[in-house]
Parts: sequence; C-alpha cells; structure tokens
Amino acid sequence: MRLPASFAAVPALVLACACSSTGAEAPPAEVRVEVSDFGKTARGEPVELYTLRGAGGIVAKVMTCGATLTELHVPDARGALADVVLGFDDLAGYESGANQYFGCTTGRVANRIARGTFELDGKVYTLAVNDPPNHLHGGVRALDKVVWKAKVLDEREEPAVRFTYHSPHGEEGYPGDLELEVTYSLSRDELRIAYRAEADQPTPVNLTHHSYFNLAGAGSRDVLDHTLWIAAARYTPTDETLIPTGAIAAVNGPLDFTRPRRIGERIAELDGTPARGYDHNFVLDGGGGSLERACRLADPASGRVMEIFTTKPGLQLYSGNFLAGQVGKGGLAYPHRGAVCLETQYFPDSINQPGFPSIVLAPGGVYEHVTVHRFRAE
Ligand code: BGC
Repeated sequence: MRLPASFAAVPALVLACACSSTGAEAPPAEVRVEVSDFGKTARGEPVELYTLRGAGGIVAKVMTCGATLTELHVPDARGALADVVLGFDDLAGYESGANQYFGCTTGRVANRIARGTFELDGKVYTLAVNDPPNHLHGGVRALDKVVWKAKVLDEREEPAVRFTYHSPHGEEGYPGDLELEVTYSLSRDELRIAYRAEADQPTPVNLTHHSYFNLAGAGSRDVLDHTLWIAAARYTPTDETLIPTGAIAAVNGPLDFTRPRRIGERIAELDGTPARGYDHNFVLDGGGGSLERACRLADPASGRVMEIFTTKPGLQLYSGNFLAGQVGKGGLAYPHRGAVCLETQYFPDSINQPGFPSIVLAPGGVYEHVTVHRFRAE
C-alpha cells in the first residue's frame, strides 16, 4: 500500500484498509489500527499497543505483552462510551502483583491442573505449583507474561491484529514446540477472538481470554446488580482446591443461571465455600464445536448488554472474589467483585479427567477456538 507523504512520515501509524481501489492519492478514509509504544517489560522487551477502531465508536486496545486486551470502549443507549474491562495504565501495573490476569491470553492450559502434574503417552510431566496445591493458568511465566509478535491484518474488512508466539518445547514444563496465534478483530458491535495452535508432539492446549468485565465501566461499583444468563444446565463440581471431581452435575441453587438473574442474588451462599463466590465451570448446552451462544451479561444501570458466543464446551464464571481495591486505570480502585470473568474454555483439569473432552493436541492437528463478545445497549 502506498501512503500519502503526510502519513508515510509517521511510521508508528498503521493504515489498515484505508485506500480506495482507484489509487493511493486520496487520503485514507479512517485510521482503523494504530500502533504505539507501550514501554518495556522489566526484562527490557519493548511492548506495542494496538488500537482497533470499529464502526459506531467501539474501540479495543490490545498489547503484545500477554496478547492482552487493555481497553474496550463500548457505547450505552445514548452512545456514551465506557471502558468495560479492568486493567492498568502502564506495563508496570500489568507486571505488578495487583494484576490478576487482567485481559490476558491464558495458557498453555488455562485454569487448573491438579497438583501440577499429568501423564501423557506414559510420561509424567511436572509443572509449577503456582496456586498451591495446583498449577494455574499455564504457570509462572506463561502466555500471559511473554511478549508476542503482532501483525495488522490489513487485508481484512474489519480492523484486526494477529499475535503470534512460538512456545518452545519444555516451556513451563509442557511438552512440544507450540506455534500459537491469537487474532483480535472488531466490527460495529463485536469483539472476536480467534485462536489457533499447532504442536510437533502431543501436548495439552486450552486457551482462554481473561478479561474482567464491568459493563458500567471499569472502576464502577461491584457487578452484583448485573444480570447473567448462562446456556448451561450442568456444571463440573470441584473439590476444596477447585479441582473437578470428574462429575457433571445439574446446576442448582446459586449456580442456576438458566434464567437471567442478578449475580448478587444468591452469591452470599457461596461466600464460605472454597470458591469464595462464583468460580465455577459451566458445561455449555451447545457442547462446543460450532459457534454457540454461551451467556448474556447485562447492566441495568447503563443498559449495556454483552453476549458471548464460543466454539468451546465450557465457561468459567469467576466473580472477582480476589479483587480488593487494586488500583487500576485512571487511578480507580477495583472493589471486591468489581468485575466478572466469563472464560470460554475446555473444562479445568481435563488432562487428568478421562471423562472430559480431550485437550491433547496431536502433531498434524490444529487447535482452533473462536469466542465472540457481542455488545448492544437497551
Ligand atoms: C480462576 C480463579 C482465579 C482467577 C485468577 C480464574 O480463571 O478460575 O480461581 O483466582 O482466574 O485471576
């Protein structure tokens, strides 16, 4: 693409799909993907921030550290934008102890692996026990902490950026070289996240997106008045360390979101449990495979509604039970249950659970996963 001189002189600007087919003379109609510097990690690696602008005002910002969504601005019924995901203003915040996987790409295996060990093809693998007594979200320096490569997909109609990362054999204890891709794209009302992975030997893969949503805006009061509906009649009960027992049980009591209800309606019944609130994997009625509606979250105050569609069979509902006033973007504090995570995934500890869908990716196979966040205002 040839750029007008005024734009070519600004190398940090990426002009995606902005030229008319009749030539490069006309200035671009709109700049839909911009890249900027987001500082350096504590190890000195430069990190880039990509700003995607969709039609109708929606804006997403994603950075190369952890292929992380840092901001997502969506309109309410009057068109007023709010940033609906928790995060930090700078990399130091993301690298601090206050960061609880805000907005990142989680893996190689999201959620827990019991006691940080599994057996595959007769060999026992040992992983970091970073959430004693279990392994959580891929380990100590997992996909959420490494710096990915990024490329603007300017051949696409919609603004899109693709992150890639080569995870070498043995990284965080997992077998096999793993080639990973995470593509974020934005339309008028949707943020789409598409994952792809290929391995050179059998290895477990379960990727998810770990945004904390508050549809009133990050830093607003807790989400207990948000209403939630989940397309799941069943869930995977867990032991006292949040590892599934292997059973698949009918949702009941506070876990029944088969009709929309306030998140806060029965959460108190879970206060004294090991989960300390909602931290449960739901077995989606759609079963995975094709893109199916998984849940709907609505904030009656702002009128913002988010529906999630996914090709994966599980949804972890996590009600921000460990948020406790961490200071995030704009100096705002994130209160207890000040956001909710809705993580589309395979079931936790699947690698040790023969009754659950397999997460083993074989050489020659492709891990694929699409999750769509669709927004509207009522
Ligand atoms: C898990 C929680 C964990 C949280 C960390 C969630 O995906 O289900 O147990 O505390 O991630 O941010």
